[in-house]
Amino acid sequence: DMILGNAVPKFKLVFLGDVYVGKTSIINQFMYETFDNNYQTTIGIDFLSKTINIGDRPMRLQLWDTAGQERFRSLIPNYIRDSSAAVIIFDVTNKQTFDSIDKWIEDVRNERGNNVVIVIVGNKVDKTDERVVTKEEAEDKAKNFSTLYQETSAKTGQNVKELFNGISKALSEDK
Ligand code: GDP
Ligand code: MG
Repeated sequence: DMILGNAVPKFKLVFLGDVYVGKTSIINQFMYETFDNNYQTTIGIDFLSKTINIGDRPMRLQLWDTAGQERFRSLIPNYIRDSSAAVIIFDVTNKQTFDSIDKWIEDVRNERGNNVVIVIVGNKVDKTDERVVTKEEAEDKAKNFSTLYQETSAKTGQNVKELFNGISKALSEDK
């Protein structure tokens, strides 16, 4: 139905965070319920779309993966432009990726101010023996930056749906 289709609100979600934290894997898990142990080369298109329902309201999410732009920070502001939400991911087994979060948040705030939902994601929580960043540390950072926080495993799928539901709820409350 074209009329109903046009009425579905669209939201741009950008996925940020250092290389190898699991950005592409989280998107693949959410879109296709699959996981691959290899580095996920980003598909050669700008974004993937999925409609989800919050209550009885459909919302169209456009998921913008970072295709190696992580390494070229000058490209990031352009990419963040027009985003409704920023999903900033770190790897709970890698402290450096957690420290990088501050800079990613700064990039988002510089571009979007407060007109954006930000969620920090601690990914790879299935690797319990190798974990170096605690949930408490991550929650503290989220509190300091006034963002949401979610722990995920793109590998097992743990909390991946919850992540997207949480973002969608925050977006629908925003509007
Ligand atoms: P990106 O560079 O941020 O897009 O990271 P990728 O999605 O390519 O993932 C980098 C590597 O981490 C790959 O080898 C993935 O299989 C692995 N990986 C991603 N998410 C998880 C996870 O939740 N648990 C585990 N154990 N490995 C993961
Ligand atoms: Mg990737």
